[in-house]
Amino acid sequence: MLFFLFQRPRVCILGGGFGGLYTALRLESLEWPSDRKPQVVLVDQSDRFVFKPMLYELLSGEVDVWEIAPSFTELLKSTSIQFVRDSVKLLRPSDHFRREPGESCTGGIVHLESGTVIEYDWLVLALGSEAKIDVVPGSAEYALPFTTLEDALVLESRNIQLFLGYLVSCIREASTSNDSSSTVTDLEVDSDHKKLILDLQPAERGRQGQILEADFVLWTVGSTSQIPRLQPPDAPYVIPLNGRGQVETEETLQVKGHPRTFAIGDSAALRDPSGKLLPATAQVAFQQADFAGWNLWAAINDRPLLPFRFQNLGEMMTLGRNDAAITASFIEGLTLEGPLGHAARKLVYCLRMPTDEHRVKVGISWFTKTAIDSLASVQNAVSDMLTSS
Ligand SMILES: Cc1cc2nc3c(=O)[nH]c(=O)nc-3n(C[C@H](O)[C@H](O)[C@H](O)COP(=O)(O)OP(=O)(O)OC[C@H]3O[C@@H](n4cnc5c(N)ncnc54)[C@H](O)[C@@H]3O)c2cc1C
Repeated sequence: MLFFLFQRPRVCILGGGFGGLYTALRLESLEWPSDRKPQVVLVDQSDRFVFKPMLYELLSGEVDVWEIAPSFTELLKSTSIQFVRDSVKLLRPSDHFRREPGESCTGGIVHLESGTVIEYDWLVLALGSEAKIDVVPGSAEYALPFTTLEDALVLESRNIQLFLGYLVSCIREASTSNDSSSTVTDLEVDSDHKKLILDLQPAERGRQGQILEADFVLWTVGSTSQIPRLQPPDAPYVIPLNGRGQVETEETLQVKGHPRTFAIGDSAALRDPSGKLLPATAQVAFQQADFAGWNLWAAINDRPLLPFRFQNLGEMMTLGRNDAAITASFIEGLTLEGPLGHAARKLVYCLRMPTDEHRVKVGISWFTKTAIDSLASVQNAVSDMLTSS
């Protein structure tokens, strides 16, 4: 089956995360000459976009699924973007072949698991990364991956603790009652479920190693790319990859040697002008989506493409319910912590939601929840005062 019908430029975007979905929305928002407005197909294996930096809040029950994982159908309903729920099986780009002037060319074809074949003129690779769980002894056996909505939903509401400043050297089952450890969680689990023991080595001088006991271990360290296995096994690899399997790109985000293919987000490898590989973060993917959309517009309209420059806007980290730390790199010395940091982080994330409509819905929902929580705290404080007096 082929998806594109008319001879307008055909843009196929693989992956509907921070890179892919935001590129599609950027393309939709740009002004196009009527005969050049591309037909955009967005392919994702899931039916929902996932705002991954808020997966922890889903576990703690602070946010609802619809808020951080809206469906693509809902998000794209008032756009001309066509959503296809399917899994990418094979990439066969043909934009690296030499062409004669005037010779028409497609960018290549993509095979999907369902058997569907998509022929495109322009391709955006934004398939993110997968959890790499086989990192230390015991991690593949005992730890649970924590990168997708499904991972989070399996875990439901758990008491989670983050351990910073340590290296995990091994995970094992508690074998005897002699395993002296401090308890990480106070969950009640069934008697068949054995406790796990984590050996932690200090990452900094001056700290002591620790042995911890836990019911569940969520593994968020390390990731791997699936791009190597999406290249045809019967032909030499044509997509240039780095040692981690990420796609090597030019500064314009075009894949090296592939002028009609762009790669962004976790599955792409781009170095900053100092030669440092850009981190695999939502911040990078989000900014690259903006550039990829613009550069696609420029390429289709025969305009010069822009080099991508990453702007580090700062760091944000949740530290538990109603607690977070944020530092803004553009205001020196600005760090917000505690409930204020938490509120600021949520505000930033609300503004980063994919569409205006979703931003408004989430904003109202979070504001209402905060107001109800504050009212409950005031009520509790008043009733404590009354009972103690
Ligand atoms: C738990 C967690 C917390 C994080 N916290 C932060 C944070 O606080 N700050 C920050 O900046 N970054 C954070 N990140 C990293 C950030 O989420 C990623 O860097 C970002 O999502 C990368 O965007 P992307 O578009 O490359 O990939 P993704 O957003 O992962 O999107 C990839 C998309 O491709 C789809 N896909 C994958 N394979 C296929 C296939 N074969 N066929 C079809 N579709 C496919 C997936 O379903 C997904 O929708 C966190 C990540 C996790 C997992």
